[in-house]
Amino acid sequence: MAHTNKNHTESFPPGKKITIVFVIGGPGSGKGTQCAKIVKQFGFTHLSAGDLLREEAKSETEQGTMIKNLMHEGKLVSSDLIVKLLLKAMLQSGNDKFLVDGFPRNEENRHAYENTIHIEPEFLLFIDCSKEEMERRILNRNQGRDDDNIDTIRRRFDVFQQSTMPVIQYYEKKGKLRKVDGNRQVDEVFEDVKAIFAQLNNQGNLPGQQAGGLSRTQMNPFKRWFLDFFCGCFGTQEARN
Ligand code: ADP
Repeated sequence: MAHTNKNHTESFPPGKKITIVFVIGGPGSGKGTQCAKIVKQFGFTHLSAGDLLREEAKSETEQGTMIKNLMHEGKLVSSDLIVKLLLKAMLQSGNDKFLVDGFPRNEENRHAYENTIHIEPEFLLFIDCSKEEMERRILNRNQGRDDDNIDTIRRRFDVFQQSTMPVIQYYEKKGKLRKVDGNRQVDEVFEDVKAIFAQLNNQGNLPGQQAGGLSRTQMNPFKRWFLDFFCGCFGTQEARN
C-alpha cells in the first residue's frame, strides 16, 4: 500500500525571511542537549537529519522502503534525499527559524543543501569537545543504542574529523563560524550559546554584524585581525608613554 507523501508546496513563500543555523559537533558533544535549550528559549524548530531518516524509514512509502533498505545494508543515504527530507520538514513545520543538527556532515551534504535549499545559513554553531569527554559521555548515555560502544564511538569520531572538519573550515573562511567550548557543564555551555543567539535576535538576523560581546573565536576573522592589530598598536603606544 505504498503511497508517495507529496508536499503541499516545494519552497518557502518568496520574500519570507528564513533563519537557518547549522549545529555541528562530534558524537556526544552535546548538540541534542543544547538544541533543546535553544528551541525552548528562542523558538527554533529542531531538525536532525538522522531522526528524519529514521522517521521516513518507518513510513510505508516507496522512499521509506528505499531508506530502510539502504540503512539495513549499511549504505549511505544520498545527500539529495536528506536535503529533500529537511526541506519537507521545514515547510511542514510552518516555522521560519530552524536548527539543523548534525548537518552538513561533509562537503557533499553542503553542496546538496546549497543546490536545493538556496538559503544561506546565518552561521554554523560548532560545539567543540575533546575526544575523551565525548567518549565518557556516550558511554554514560548508553541506553541500549548499539552504536554507543567504544569502537563505534572512535570510528564516528574519526569520520567526524575527516569529513566534517572541511565544512567547519569552509564556514570559518566565510566568517560564519561560532565556536563554543563544549567540555563544560550544560548550563555553562548554554551561556555562550545564548549570547550568540541573543545577538542574532538583536541584530534582526543581519549576517556579518558582530558586537563586542563575542569571544575571539566567535568573531569573523577580519574583525579579529583588526582588533588584534588595533590592540597591538595601542599596546605599543602605551608602552612608549
Ligand atoms: P550529541 O547530540 O552531540 O550526540 P547529546 O546531547 O545526546 O550529544 O549528549 C550526549 C550525552 O552527554 C547525553 O547523555 C547528555 O545528557 C550528556 N551531556 C550533554 N552535554 C553535556 C555536558 N555539557 N556535560 C555533561 N554531560 C553532557
